[in-house]
Amino acid sequence: MGRDRIRCESGWRLKNNSMPFFYFGASNNFMRYAYVGHERVEPQKGLRGLCACCGGELIAKCGHFKIHHWAHKDLKSCDPWWENESEWHRQWKSHFPPERQEVVFVSPATQEKHIADVYSEKGVILEFQSYAIDVEEVRARENFYQQLVWVINGVKNEFDKFYFAQSIVGTDPNDSMLKNVKWFGRSKLFAKWAQATKQVYFDFGTDIVWHLVRFDSNSKTGQVRAYEKEKFIQFYGGTSKPILSFQQSAFGDR
Ligand SMILES: [Zn+2]
Repeated sequence: MGRDRIRCESGWRLKNNSMPFFYFGASNNFMRYAYVGHERVEPQKGLRGLCACCGGELIAKCGHFKIHHWAHKDLKSCDPWWENESEWHRQWKSHFPPERQEVVFVSPATQEKHIADVYSEKGVILEFQSYAIDVEEVRARENFYQQLVWVINGVKNEFDKFYFAQSIVGTDPNDSMLKNVKWFGRSKLFAKWAQATKQVYFDFGTDIVWHLVRFDSNSKTGQVRAYEKEKFIQFYGGTSKPILSFQQSAFGDR
């Protein structure tokens, strides 16, 4: 089995026995990290590595058009839940220490493996989600990880940001950060994520994240609460300034 080749990096077992055992690693189609020997490294031209989730071979892709990433040599995906790394994902993950990103969890009971975007020092997993997923998958991921917070890309659909702005209809008299919403437009963004059982935050590309406090799909009304993105990141042990990788900083401002 390929996975036997992967060193168990941390050996942590979470307090609750039903929680998955995990080690640090990386997987699937577009990843930020791979194992080269015993090192967990970012892609560099010409490099090959191994996926910590499935043990498959990964090839460094360092072109000009996509962010540098690792890709599986054969296109079989090792974690069906994994969403290819996008610029939005990379930005969010970069606020957290490298060893907290792309953490593989294994169910002791079933050996099922999945890769969490960020395993925060609070013991809570942050999943950054750009694409719509069906409620069954939402539920399966919530059951697998237990301690999970969703961060949803609100600018994936070009109209959602506009819909959201139009949907804020008032402010709670006791809490100026708490806003009343009456969802505007045809998008099902809020209705879909109202079905989650874990906390959901929306990122509409500003310095605020919006916690979906409650939402009724029939009346399309509910409440959202604003949090400074910086405070949200710090709460989960991240730093407000992204920790840039070598490739990113090389192209950045001096
Ligand atoms: Zn893999």
